Amino acid sequence: MDKKTIRDIPKDQLKGKKVLVRVDFNVPLNEKREVTDDTRIVMSLPTIRFLLEQGARVILVSHLGRPKGGPKDELKMNPVALKLEQLLGYKVQKADDCIGESVAQMANKLKDGEVLLLENVRFYPQEEANDHEFARSLASLADIYVNDAFGTAHRAHASTAGVAAFLPAYAGFLMEKELESLGEKLNHPVRPFLAILGGAKVSSKIGVIQKLIEKVDVLLIGGGMSYTFIKALGYEVGTSLLEESMIEEAKKIMDMAKEKKVNFILPDDFIVAAEGKEGVPTQVVAWNQIPANMGGFDIGPKTIEKFGQAIMKAKTIFWNGPVGLFEVKSFSTGTVEIAKKVAQSGAVSVVGGGDTIAAINQAGVANAITHISTGGGASLEFVEGRKLPGVEVLQSK
Ligand code: ADP
Ligand code: MG
Repeated sequence: MDKKTIRDIPKDQLKGKKVLVRVDFNVPLNEKREVTDDTRIVMSLPTIRFLLEQGARVILVSHLGRPKGGPKDELKMNPVALKLEQLLGYKVQKADDCIGESVAQMANKLKDGEVLLLENVRFYPQEEANDHEFARSLASLADIYVNDAFGTAHRAHASTAGVAAFLPAYAGFLMEKELESLGEKLNHPVRPFLAILGGAKVSSKIGVIQKLIEKVDVLLIGGGMSYTFIKALGYEVGTSLLEESMIEEAKKIMDMAKEKKVNFILPDDFIVAAEGKEGVPTQVVAWNQIPANMGGFDIGPKTIEKFGQAIMKAKTIFWNGPVGLFEVKSFSTGTVEIAKKVAQSGAVSVVGGGDTIAAINQAGVANAITHISTGGGASLEFVEGRKLPGVEVLQSK
């Protein structure tokens, strides 16, 4: 990786220094305002612990939800502070704002090895506007800036990019791991390199497909997007998800696969039903025999077998997008079985996308995956080869 990380900061320059760390604490809360999934907080602990152990004074900043137009009581960071304190095992101080005199006083009173969590940075519209003065105010709290929020690195906001104009900027360990896993591991893959792409729409993944087709040996297509490819081959897809406007694009992708000698594999069979609902009768049909009054909601048994065999031969796997409507139990088998195969394969496996991660967890195989990316949109943009503003601003080695 060509960006400097917190490991590159000379040790004597961390002790006693105030370090502003942009973390991704955008966690789900229930109606009692309790954190229901602490994954993102857990992932940030190595960076926070490292800085505290070096005697730094850690100031954490994050957004939480979408508080459009100003402060919202239900989106205050208090439940996050509580959870962080439990997980970290250190006292966590919590500020009621993220800039201003009172916050500066709290920051200045911090002792070596102490932690301060700032209030939701999106309570200020200047955050998303990447306002220069707002960024300056945030930066004025600290001596050093660390970005560990990979999930928001594709956004040029004040706390993810703007502050770097005023402070020396470094990557945290989570940021480093994401960049290495999605970058190095996929750009220089151990072959065969296989990608599984699914999810609802071709249009939301087109950039990723185009990029991956230049790199992979095998491309498995499943989920809602597969029907646009099947239509492009000249077959009917009944009431399945279809993006008419992407049919030409789908043809181009298949031509490109041929040209690049990529083994492009579409499903052999589907589970179809009149509706994508629990309890509705289902039936297995061949890929090119979807009845006019039914839609495909999962891959069928032959496809599970065929995809499974390809997965077991792979040495590097990238997966984004469930291969069926996995939220509905009767249509979750394909996605769960694919998750298990990826876990069993022994390949270097990199998985991204909110729904795909939910599926991995549902299958109970998360700990057998090499890297589960915390960034939804950011992971895809990075794999597409786009520059992420929150990464670009970090110091190069
Ligand atoms: P991710 O969040 O992992 O990037 P996407 O958001 O692109 O994935 O797609 C996931 C969604 O696609 C899920 O809600 C899933 O139910 C839906 N989906 C997958 N296959 C189908 C299908 N055959 N019919 C309808 N929806 C589908
Ligand atoms: Mg999704």
